[in-house]
Amino acid sequence: MSRHHDEFHPPNRILLGPGPSPVDPRVYQAMCSPVLGHLDPVFLQCMDDIQILLREVFETENKVTFPVSGTGSAGMEAALVNILEPTDEAVIFTAGVFSERMLEIASRCCKTAHQVKLEWGNPVRGSDVTDAIEKYPNAKVFCMVHAETSTGACTPLDEIHQALKGTDRLLVVDAVASLGGHRVEVDKNGIDVCYSGSQKAISAPPGLAPITFSAKALEKMRNRKTKVQSWYLDASMVEKYWGVERTYHHTAPISMNYALREALRIVLEEGLETRAERHKTNHLAMVAGLDAMGIKAGVAPEFRAWTVMAAYEPDGVDELKVRQRLLNEFNIEIAGGLGPLKGKIWRIGLMGSGSTKNNVLLLLSALETILADQGYKAPGAALEGANRVYSA
Ligand SMILES: *Cc1c(COP(=O)(O)O)cnc(C)c1O
Repeated sequence: MSRHHDEFHPPNRILLGPGPSPVDPRVYQAMCSPVLGHLDPVFLQCMDDIQILLREVFETENKVTFPVSGTGSAGMEAALVNILEPTDEAVIFTAGVFSERMLEIASRCCKTAHQVKLEWGNPVRGSDVTDAIEKYPNAKVFCMVHAETSTGACTPLDEIHQALKGTDRLLVVDAVASLGGHRVEVDKNGIDVCYSGSQKAISAPPGLAPITFSAKALEKMRNRKTKVQSWYLDASMVEKYWGVERTYHHTAPISMNYALREALRIVLEEGLETRAERHKTNHLAMVAGLDAMGIKAGVAPEFRAWTVMAAYEPDGVDELKVRQRLLNEFNIEIAGGLGPLKGKIWRIGLMGSGSTKNNVLLLLSALETILADQGYKAPGAALEGANRVYSA
């Protein structure tokens, strides 16, 4: 018999890339529970629990809050196909791969998807929003990414809220790489549609995309003149399964919902603020450790995401070899750059249960060893740099 017929035993990697992130043993345990029918009263309770827990994590009172069956991109698609109609104009602020993906999807949903093109590595600023309101008076839906995983930039949502307040614009925010690592505060920040993914800072496996719709978003959706272009992601139908009607729409991925429920419990046991602080501290320690080695972080310091960062590869280093040795000898996954940043940066994720002091020190030591072997002369010691943050 060939290998193809053997049992599959994947290694237990330390996932420090832009996702997926390490999964807590409690979440694996939850996934082993017996599969129930998708209309079993006990599973319906589980669904109710998930909606309540999700509202707490999103920090919203929004009634329509549920996990889309699919990965983060399904959440993105669900947000845009439901909120946009063919006659609409939308504004999409792009500064990386995922905001460009939003633009691509939006352009398939509505007449005009205006691109406000920012330089990669920049966050969206309140002034960008104010300018766009003026420039595109007929665009009523504004879309942006909170933590842009391809660059490590984090958009200040309070600024965006200030700029949109009192206008009739709807705000769509991608919180795939931030929810569970940063406070997203959907209601406080006036977000109308917000979606995330299970496998980043929430630390469950990939496969579900939590989403939430404000009353203002629902009103726009209820007044649609055209049907949502996607049957599978049509929130007006999916909502009837997650709401009181319990009408079958599609079979919920039962085990993944068990996983999400447990992962959300872990998030809330820690507390959103404590968890955000943990992400921040470990991020700062990683930046300081890299800096001591002479490796620069991308993005202006005040706009760096705490969940995922860009680290500029030193000159003369074979970046692919570095990543291969990290994986093969140290069991650590990090990622390379995408698009214009390919071959320039490493993307390092410290997300959910992956954001630990232990992981920061381990990755720094491993990088130090591998770079020294490649002849790189670091100006200082990585662990000393990181420990300055931890002992502060
Ligand atoms: C990962 C990611 C996505 C896409 O999620 P998938 O689960 O890969 O489909 C979208 N937006 C951001 C910001 C992400 O980090």
